[in-house]
Amino acid sequence: ELLVIGSANADLVVSADRRPGGGETVLGGDTEILPGGKGANTAVAAARLGADVALVGAVGDDPYGSVLLDSLRGSGVDTGLVRTSSRPTGIAYITVTPDGENSILVSPGANGSIEPADVEGIFDGVKTVVLSLEIPLPTVERAVAAAADAGVKVLFNLSPAAKISDATLAALDVLLVNEHEAAWLLGGELDDPRQLLELGPKAAVVTLGARGAVVVTEDGAVEVASPKVEAVDTTGAGDAFAGALAAAVTAGKSLVEAAEHAVKVAAISVTRRGAQPSYPTSDEV
Ligand code: ADP
Repeated sequence: ELLVIGSANADLVVSADRRPGGGETVLGGDTEILPGGKGANTAVAAARLGADVALVGAVGDDPYGSVLLDSLRGSGVDTGLVRTSSRPTGIAYITVTPDGENSILVSPGANGSIEPADVEGIFDGVKTVVLSLEIPLPTVERAVAAAADAGVKVLFNLSPAAKISDATLAALDVLLVNEHEAAWLLGGELDDPRQLLELGPKAAVVTLGARGAVVVTEDGAVEVASPKVEAVDTTGAGDAFAGALAAAVTAGKSLVEAAEHAVKVAAISVTRRGAQPSYPTSDEV
């Protein structure tokens, strides 16, 4: 089984001619409510591809929480480890302006209530775990240590970028980052992705947007090109990649084979609007 530990958010998306400044009111378009959050997106991406996947997370006891649980279950994600918190469901308030620029205010809510105790004793029968941020760092670091102790393969999507301990980095089987996160980790510049292994993980995958990804193992760096597609919305592409990579690794593929699969899945996802609704099934891939 594949376990995803991470956030679930309702994305409230509204278009506007311009974003309001301090003290200002701007009228926008109709609100779209979309299921999101890095953890939930990753779990849905993997489940659509046929993986046996459970999410560890939290939502509030409110209508947005129900929307998120329905979306997860509808895609075949096991929600038995998604706790209902006394805090409200996490919400991302997203304003989209005509230049295509997003401004996003995230209210973590229930995601902030996921505690180290929630990740104890959950790794029985688990082959692979995928973690991302948007949930408390102490919980993520505890989960990495517990998973590594239990002999579970650990994939860590260091997004959004945050300072994690050397011990956590050293416990990772795969560090997954985009170019910006990789540069940040390496102190500002991504010259040679192989340098990521000096931070401690056994392997690393850097996603390169339309160019695809590069896989780094002790055997060196291998570039995996993306299929050429017409991108209409890249929201959640990184999460689609993470879910597909984890599903393939869990199915026994090598990391390079898994990345070859993940670039196809992520490329399809950018040709359609939204995050979770854009994720393909294995038949489509
Ligand atoms: P993030 O979404 O986390 O910033 P990237 O921009 O690197 O990460 O995108 C993640 C993956 O999504 C890429 O490795 C690639 O496979 C796919 N992808 C993103 N943008 C495009 C694009 N314009 N065309 C094809 N694939 C894309």
